[in-house]
Amino acid sequence: MKHLIWIVLVLLISCHTKENNAALKAIQVKEWGEVEGKKVYLYTLTNSKGNSVSITNYGGIITSWLTPDRKGTRANIVIGFDTLTGYLSDHPYFGAIIGRYANRIGYATFTLDNQSYQLAANNGRNHLHGGNKGFDKVVWDVKSTLDSIASLTLVYRSADGEEGYPGNLLVEVVYTFTNEDELLIEYTAQTDKATPVNLTNHSYFNLSGDVRNTILDHQLEIYADAYTPVDSTLIPTGAILPVTGTSFDFTSPHKIGERISEVSGGYDHNFVLNRKGITLEKIALLSDSTSGRKLEVYTTEPGIQFYSGNFLDGTIKANGGHILQKHAALCLETQHFPDSPNKTNFPTVVLKPGEKYKTVTKYRSIL
Ligand code: BGC
Repeated sequence: MKHLIWIVLVLLISCHTKENNAALKAIQVKEWGEVEGKKVYLYTLTNSKGNSVSITNYGGIITSWLTPDRKGTRANIVIGFDTLTGYLSDHPYFGAIIGRYANRIGYATFTLDNQSYQLAANNGRNHLHGGNKGFDKVVWDVKSTLDSIASLTLVYRSADGEEGYPGNLLVEVVYTFTNEDELLIEYTAQTDKATPVNLTNHSYFNLSGDVRNTILDHQLEIYADAYTPVDSTLIPTGAILPVTGTSFDFTSPHKIGERISEVSGGYDHNFVLNRKGITLEKIALLSDSTSGRKLEVYTTEPGIQFYSGNFLDGTIKANGGHILQKHAALCLETQHFPDSPNKTNFPTVVLKPGEKYKTVTKYRSIL
């Protein structure tokens, strides 16, 4: 009997230690450089399958996501750079957290509580992705890391008047990478003055794991019966149109390249999701039949920007030294609708003091 108790004890202790060892390996951190006197780190979140997601606190950028194809060969499914220097150069928001307002605000201005605000016109006459120095170009504080569930919590305090926006905004983003290959992104924010807020992540996906292939053969499904058409500067006209019978109908799977020539400039549109209520729902599915990789997208948001990498023009080299040609990758940015501060018929994006902004988006890699 005594022996049995000892054996059970030894087994329990060894299981516990094994668990702890596995947990300890879930997050690895390395120093990655410095920006404006603040230390930048690269965190790698590894799950029990050995798949991993790397995130830096510079811009909250997801720098890589290594996941297997149907043969078990792991490759990176997001565009990124190998070094911090890459991210400090001019690039179109690779992998970054976008804020205070994701996508465009027409004529870089809006009126709130009878006061008009002027923002940076950093995209022609419009304001794009938070301005000249949005949340993608700042060093976020690392609030905590949790080994047991591979999560990383980043915090940023955006000052009143920053990039022209009213109110001190406290933003928190929690990234969690699960053993089911889900990358969960939870955004919360609080303000001391009414302000528009619209946060997203700007990862560029190429499920083939090789950016020398375009994404035109990827298949996409978006559960949206409507979309918001845009003017020539990509500002929504205000209309909400049915996708039926148009090149925007992704309610059943279509290859991205199939109808892209019918869309002036390529896809760069907000889709009005069918999801209702406040729960996290599956809203899109991207698949690459060659590698077998698939990506499910879930969100609590009312919209998603499907951007087919139209402005990639061969001038940037990503990791691996490969030139990024047009359509080398695509973005699926969950969001409120572009230019909502100027469109009274779109769901409101105004966060008031005492309220809590909370949205959740989940990307899940499957085969
Ligand atoms: C926008 C595109 C823009 C791209 C990179 C996307 O979210 O919809 O118009 O070119 O971001 O800046």
